[in-house]
Amino acid sequence: MPYGYWGKLLEVNLSTGDVKTLQVDKRTMRKYIGGRGLGVKILWDRLGDRWEEVDPLGPENILLILTGPLTGYYPGSRVCVTGKSPQSNGVVGSTVGGEFGVELKSAGYDGIIITGESEKPVYLWINDDEVELRDASHLWGREAKETLMILTKELTDEMSKKKPLRGLCKEPSILYIGPAGERKVRIAAVAHKLTHAAGYGGYGAVMGAKKLKAIAVKGSGPLPDVADLEGFKKLLDGICKELIKEFRMRYWGTGWAGYTVGADTSSEPIRNWQEEWHDETRFGVSFFEKYWIKRFWGDFGCPTTCLKIAFIRSGRFKGVLTDNPDYELQAYLGTNLGIFDPEGNIYLSSRADELGLCGIQTGNVMGFAAELYQRGILTKDDIGFELKWGDVEAFAKLQEMIARREGIGDLLAEGTYRAAVKISEMKKVDVMPYAIQVKGIGVGAHGIRSGLDYTKPTAYVCNLQGGDHTSVSNLDDQNRPGEYEMILLDSIVACWFNYKKQYLYKFFKVVAGWNLTEDEWYGELAPRIAAIQRTLLLLGGPDAYWDPRIHDENPQRFYEPLPSGPKKGAVVKREEIEKLKKTYYEAAGWDENGLPKPETLKRLGITELEEALERIRHRLGLA
Ligand code: SF4
Repeated sequence: MPYGYWGKLLEVNLSTGDVKTLQVDKRTMRKYIGGRGLGVKILWDRLGDRWEEVDPLGPENILLILTGPLTGYYPGSRVCVTGKSPQSNGVVGSTVGGEFGVELKSAGYDGIIITGESEKPVYLWINDDEVELRDASHLWGREAKETLMILTKELTDEMSKKKPLRGLCKEPSILYIGPAGERKVRIAAVAHKLTHAAGYGGYGAVMGAKKLKAIAVKGSGPLPDVADLEGFKKLLDGICKELIKEFRMRYWGTGWAGYTVGADTSSEPIRNWQEEWHDETRFGVSFFEKYWIKRFWGDFGCPTTCLKIAFIRSGRFKGVLTDNPDYELQAYLGTNLGIFDPEGNIYLSSRADELGLCGIQTGNVMGFAAELYQRGILTKDDIGFELKWGDVEAFAKLQEMIARREGIGDLLAEGTYRAAVKISEMKKVDVMPYAIQVKGIGVGAHGIRSGLDYTKPTAYVCNLQGGDHTSVSNLDDQNRPGEYEMILLDSIVACWFNYKKQYLYKFFKVVAGWNLTEDEWYGELAPRIAAIQRTLLLLGGPDAYWDPRIHDENPQRFYEPLPSGPKKGAVVKREEIEKLKKTYYEAAGWDENGLPKPETLKRLGITELEEALERIRHRLGLA
């Protein structure tokens, strides 16, 4: 028996209804860990030889929900949602906090593999070894909180009836989609709890395409044994004592950054990134605080408790409830749309939750549309109404149209990149310079021009996950690819905010019994996962392909000088990017075109990638 994990995945085929369990051998787990790492390995093994033909929204795509060996042990529990991304056509490890991973492990599984496509709406119910696909027609079309409430009540009542001596059962954990996912909106999220979302990647659309409304799980067993219980208890105690001291995150949540990033680091999106600085003090964290009805809310085992539940008691947005919003959504559904009114921002975030949209990607595409309106490229006739910066009602309407694919919303539902391609054709104007995205994924709310944020000039350029702000392609202080750190967090699967390097490798030892060292991670395991993920990203298809000579690049906007703020005039230089990019390729073991080198594959024991790389070279005219 392994420690820390079961070595068991659940595989569900939605086309046939077949359910089976698969063993994952210890060697594979040790090499690929879990979450993003294991997901990349499974996707490569199953789809790698025909990746370019696989439609992410077709039945052949595979949706993976994976935990890692430290899920349930390392403070702050997350699961990694992955598959072929309908945004990048590569693989995105998209993680979401909450209790799902712990429940799944308590039910006896390390993850779920979902294949095929159901004819009718279904949900998957996992109650220990009872695994069932059930009719979800009564849930289809419903928004988030309604879906969650109906399913929670149904399943809790059922469990309580089945085991009356236990009294009222605790509710199951549920991953679900809203109307946006059902309509295969490429910026739809996989949601969890009231306000949590795996947003990057567009996996809500994958669930919708598979007609899978939700996955509910309740486990009654323990977590797997750990290798060294006493050592584990000591480590857990140590890290929790440190995390609880992190006052800023604990007290304010990520929203502490809301005003600070805009004012101090000058790297926050304002009006589709036309600026990155504002002095609107009314958008500061203390103006959000007055709406909080729950200040310290945390995911399983997390002492940081960064979540803050905001509720609007009166006025035009009465009854609205959401998490804070967090920094990314304050930026993307606030400042990026010219909105500096906390209530309006809370309202838009709550609607994004309800509709099952990724708030970052939605704010990105709506900011893009609003700039096109500002420039007269999109008109009132195209949109159906005026789309002016700061108009909360107009953006709320547009958000609704995106989620339901109505009018111009149908086009914007394709995400910023694909919408830009279509609008350029439609209007005979190149609108790509206003699309703030990389490889199909809108960039996170951290700019690179001021040089004051953690995102350095190459942060998004050759990022394995496009514009993802958590997984950035900076070189670290030891000249190693910065993404290797995030691959680790997405593989174990743990929350970024609880990352403590000095503890992490020790956790491997006491939980899984592995002597995994930083040298081994950076020298072998991470480069192997990154090489596979990079290959799948460059294979791409079937509707969009990336050429690293063109697409390993920043959005055009980042080459325009900052027009305001403490870093007014700051700009990223293209020649500098070209140089930095080559250094990054070198550090990653990729050639001058950004393709993993044959000697790298040999050193990492993955020469089977060579054939796929040959296909890429052929397409790029390099063979
Ligand atoms: S720090 Fe916040 S997001 Fe991370 S696990 Fe804790 S509560 Fe969840």
